[in-house]
This record gives sequence, structure tokens and C-alpha cells, in this order.
Amino acid sequence: MTTSPDSRPTARPATAAPATLRQRLAELRGPGRPPRPLDARALAALAANPGCRRRVLLDGAGVDKGALATALGSPAAFGQSQFAIVRGHSFEARAKADGGTELVRLLHERLRDGTPAPGPGSVDVPDLTASGPEGRTARTALALREATAAGRWALLDHPLLALPVSGTPAFLEPDAVVVHPDGSWTVVEIKSFPVIDGAADPGKVGAAARQAAVYVLALEELAARTAGGDAGGGVGSGDDGDSGHGRDGGDSGGGARVRHEILLVCPKDFANVPVAELVDVRKPRATTRRQLARLARVEDIAAALPAGTTFDLRLADDGRTATRPAEELAAAVEAVDAAYAPECLAACELAFHCRARARAEGAVAALGRGLRGELGGLTTVESVLAAALDGTAGGAVGGGPASPGASADAAPDPTVVALRRAAALRSEALALAPFPAPAPAPALAGTEAACR
Ligand code: SF4
Repeated sequence: MTTSPDSRPTARPATAAPATLRQRLAELRGPGRPPRPLDARALAALAANPGCRRRVLLDGAGVDKGALATALGSPAAFGQSQFAIVRGHSFEARAKADGGTELVRLLHERLRDGTPAPGPGSVDVPDLTASGPEGRTARTALALREATAAGRWALLDHPLLALPVSGTPAFLEPDAVVVHPDGSWTVVEIKSFPVIDGAADPGKVGAAARQAAVYVLALEELAARTAGGDAGGGVGSGDDGDSGHGRDGGDSGGGARVRHEILLVCPKDFANVPVAELVDVRKPRATTRRQLARLARVEDIAAALPAGTTFDLRLADDGRTATRPAEELAAAVEAVDAAYAPECLAACELAFHCRARARAEGAVAALGRGLRGELGGLTTVESVLAAALDGTAGGAVGGGPASPGASADAAPDPTVVALRRAAALRSEALALAPFPAPAPAPALAGTEAACR
């Protein structure tokens, strides 16, 4: 159960945003609004939609997207319920009740590598207390270095890692990191969803793997620096590193090895007894690394905004009620390009707002990335209907120019041919139907219906 640090001020020089950028991002949030921290869950969601400049900017600036969505009139029930959070904390406390020895024992048991099991007193638990995120990340780095050099088992409870993303630093807090006697490091992720009869919900396991993959990337970044190398400024550089072996991947520059199998700990059969399994995160790690590297830089997006753009909600004295007109806020949000897809509904607080806009524009992307890809250059429902119905008007399927504006001897666009064929088949089916065919809908009504 991961928590995030409660502030995200400037970090050490390797990750800090320039003062002018920090100032601009603060203006975007509004006066006195602290930045919302980017956690591993948010980074994984960001990586799932790297084409959305809107999310990159809002997350990079630390804007509270939930509050923004509410002020826009499109609140989304998003995130963990209070009950799930409490249950998660309680299970994690139980799993770590003996100072982490049980977690290390579970890890050793799953490794099955023939090495001696950790005995009583053989697991070091370094103190990671320090003030502020910079202090905590520095303390974590030191503890990892010392534990690696000691050649003993060590468990770092809630270490703090920094990962530069899109030009701004993100501070990440895994549940634990175990240092092995051979100097390698394993991320431990503790989740409260149950393992029933030896199986857990695959969707939840996948989400946990994607989250842990972000921690693995941050540890590799740290390992590279610990080895004296330069990590190269975050996830935007270097190779994908996805060709290594799952257990011992991620040798980052000759220093500590970051293992690409993480330990996922869950309660067994609702009994709150911890069970653990190793999960290979090479794929989500490689995907996340690639996607995060594709993110546009926050400062470039901010620089392209119209002068004076801000997402300030102008909160009333109660600190909660937004007084800024929704239309003004909507105009500020629309100033940044979005890339809505149905997956946003499970990953972003602004999903209802962006979905409404995408539908209003008749964007086929609102119907799914798969369909969007199949339709090629036809990006709106209106253009799809026009392309499909143009062929049926004359009764010729596959004949004539296949895309609007194309010359008569141009090769037919296979997408348009398929659309016309489908429209013709539909017309034939309706003509043979024993009930009256529905009246042709006006273009806009057809667009709206198709969007639903
Ligand atoms: S909901 Fe909107 S802002 Fe969020 S990722 Fe999707 S398109 Fe981007």
C-alpha cells in the first residue's frame, strides 16, 4: 500500500525544474496551491496515454485534476475508496509487523535458489528518517549503498526514490525494497486484493506490475548514479533494457542489479495472512520506459499556451468551493490538446469532461483506439458516415473514387471500400426486413447515435 510524499518541492540538481518553469507551473495551479505529487500509479497511467499533452501538463504542474473536473461540472468517481485505503494500510502493517523479516522470508522462499534462508537477526532495517523529499531520497540512496556493500539481507521500509519525468521530478515511494546478500535489489509491492485458491484478479496483478515497473525504473536510475555513471536525465534516454533476464536484469552501469521480478504480497483467501509471488515486470517496465520517454516536455507545452492561461479554481474562503466560472476553466483546459480514449475512464479524473468534448466533436477516438486505428485518416464520425453513405447512394460498392477529394483513377482506399460495403449490406438487410426501415436520421443525430 503505497503513499506519496505530501509535497513535491524542488529536488536535487539532477532532477530539479528551472526556477522560471517552477514559477510558470505554480501560476498554472493558482496562487498558494501546493503541487499534487505524482505517484507511481499516476506515472503508469501517464505512460498509458503518452499522446495526451493535457495530462502531461496538468500532472507536470501538479494540478489537482479531481478538483478541476468537479469545477468543470464533470466529476469522476476515481481512485481508491476510503475503505480500500484503510484495509490496505492495515494489511501492510500486518505484513511488516515483525520489522520485515517475514517479507524477506517470503521473498527467499519464492526465489528457490538454494541459498541459506535468512535467520533471526539476519535482516537489517535501516532508518530512513529524514526531512523533506530531498532529504529522504538522499537517505534512501545512502542506505541502499551501505546495505549493498554490507552483503547482507536488508529491508528498506518505504524508501523514497526520485525519477525525472518530462522535465519535472516525481518522487516515488514503494512499499519496500529488499537488498539481497549478492547486492541485487527487489521491489516489494503490498496489495490488499486477495489471492483466492492460489489465483488473484489478473487485472489487479497487471496494474500492480505496471506500478512496480515504475519503481524498478527509478531504482535503475539510482543504481546508475550510485555506480558513478550518469543516468542520462531520466527515462528519456538509454536503451529499453528489456532484453535481459527477468530475475537478474537491470544491471545499471556496473553497480547494484535491480531485479526485474518484483515480490507481490497479498492476503490469502481473505484471511489477512500474507502470501507472495514473484511477478516478472520486464514487459511493463519496457513499455513504461518507452512511453515516458515519448512524453512531450512540460515546459514546451506550457510555453505554447496562450498568455495568462491558468487552471486556478479561485477557491472561496472555505478552501474547497471553486468560484471561477466553468466556461473560463473549460477554455483553459481546451487550450491544451487531449487524446481521449475509453481507457481514460479508468485512469484519469478528467475522463468525463474529455469524453463529452470528444463526443461533441464526433471524434472516432472516443469509440476506442482499435477502431481509430482501423479508420486511418477518417477521424470524425461525420467523415466516416459520409465516406460510407457516398458509395451506397449510387448503389455501387467499391466503385468510383474511394475517398473524398480523391481523383477518379486513384487507388481505392481499403477502409472506405470496407465502409461502403458494410453500408450496402446494411441497406440490403433493411430492405429485406419484415418491418419498416428506420427513417434516415439527420447527420448530427446519426453522429451522436454512433458515438454512444
Ligand atoms: S481524460 Fe483527458 S486529460 Fe485525462 S488522459 Fe484522457 S484525454 Fe488526457
